[in-house]
Amino acid sequence: MKVAVIGGGISGLCTSYYLLKAGVQVELFEPHKPNKENEKEVPFGASYVNAGYLTPSHIIPLSSPSLFASGLKMMFQRKSPFYIKPRLSANLIKWGFNFAKHSNNKHVDYAIPEIAQINLYSKELFQEILSSNEIGDFQYRDRGLLMIYKTKEVGDEELEVSHRASEFGIKSELLEHEALKKIEPHIHPSVLGAVRYYSDVSTNPIEFMSKMWAYLMAHQNFNLVENKVEAIDLNRAEVRFYTDSGEGYSFDKVAITTGAQANRLLKSAGDSILLEAGKGYAIQTPKSNHIAFPALLLESKVAVSPFKDIIRFSGTMELSGINHNINKLRVSAIAESAEQYYQGLSVNDFKLDKVRCGLRPLSPDGLPYIGVSKDPRIVVNTGGAMMGWSIGPAAGKMTTAVLLEQKTEISLSPFVLNRF
Ligand SMILES: Cc1cc2nc3c(=O)[nH]c(=O)nc-3n(C[C@H](O)[C@H](O)[C@H](O)COP(=O)(O)OP(=O)(O)OC[C@H]3O[C@@H](n4cnc5c(N)ncnc54)[C@H](O)[C@@H]3O)c2cc1C
Repeated sequence: MKVAVIGGGISGLCTSYYLLKAGVQVELFEPHKPNKENEKEVPFGASYVNAGYLTPSHIIPLSSPSLFASGLKMMFQRKSPFYIKPRLSANLIKWGFNFAKHSNNKHVDYAIPEIAQINLYSKELFQEILSSNEIGDFQYRDRGLLMIYKTKEVGDEELEVSHRASEFGIKSELLEHEALKKIEPHIHPSVLGAVRYYSDVSTNPIEFMSKMWAYLMAHQNFNLVENKVEAIDLNRAEVRFYTDSGEGYSFDKVAITTGAQANRLLKSAGDSILLEAGKGYAIQTPKSNHIAFPALLLESKVAVSPFKDIIRFSGTMELSGINHNINKLRVSAIAESAEQYYQGLSVNDFKLDKVRCGLRPLSPDGLPYIGVSKDPRIVVNTGGAMMGWSIGPAAGKMTTAVLLEQKTEISLSPFVLNRF
């Protein structure tokens, strides 16, 4: 069987990885393969700029009453970490309607076990990839995740989440300021404490992506076409499509893994999903010894990722369509959070002109899309949102199973495409 994978973020690379393992010939279409000459340069794209957390602890879907309420409040602040650009777009209106509809406790109760299950399964697969040594080390570190708070209200909210997470075996502990300072000596005096999750793991996305690319490129059954796919044509026995170079290709089956841009191709194949792009930014400081633990700064909604030689700060959720425009105000707000939560770090420690952004693929109910489209030869794997990195291997392995018409390890019914 000849299979095309369209899109080379984590979803596309992991789908290709498991297809190759199943003995399938894979052709991957991706116009922006990272710069081979300068591997230290961070490329644009969600799969490169993310915080690298594997987050079984992130069990609350994006559509939840508390996130909905705080999102509404933040919408009107210029530097806020959440923003929806008002647009006259039928898609955005329909997406917003369904997002509001799912922002209730009943949906949260329904989504929590599904989110926990796919994340825990994916963590096992990351461990399997690591121990196979096929791609080498990608800074997989079992250090847990600190949810750091400055106000009692936010701390109490996180504590409640941690109690719900414990039902799924996700272990955590409350650290008051003094206990936190023992493990994170530069913590700011105004920080009240943190909930420490032991289940979460950190990875370095640049290292994983570049090593996974190298593994795939060396595989005899893998071929990369460095072009963008323009449209899919289903009017033949095989699935046919065209790239921006004008060339045509035919396949038995196609996986669409183009992240936030999945609808463009899906529509050309006579289907569509409710999907918005949630833009996030990443900036870095070379002060790599300053912070020991990966953390989420809860009030400012900034993720802190201490990698081997740099520390990455990432955040914001901007729903402003498909573009890579940089909002400097929001980027500087990310840098300012460093000095609000840690002593000895300042805005000047970051190279703000090197900021990168990426688009999280967001469904309105906070669950991914994994499954067949109206035409069963087209399979979609997107919608990972804030956990798209974490679920990458699980989503890739299950997409492979769908393409090969095999049973999946966990049920895909919560993730079907036509659920709205
Ligand atoms: C700031 C930030 C922090 C984050 N932190 C975390 C985290 O800690 N943990 C976590 O689990 N998740 C995190 N995420 C979310 C996660 O990064 C994304 O959900 C995930 O990377 C999405 O991967 P993807 O492969 O689906 O999409 P993408 O990474 O966007 O990849 C899609 C690819 O498709 C290609 N493409 C698009 N159109 C076409 C076309 N027509 N033809 C060919 N190719 C095409 C694009 O060039 C791109 O390379 C974060 C995201 C951001 C922005």
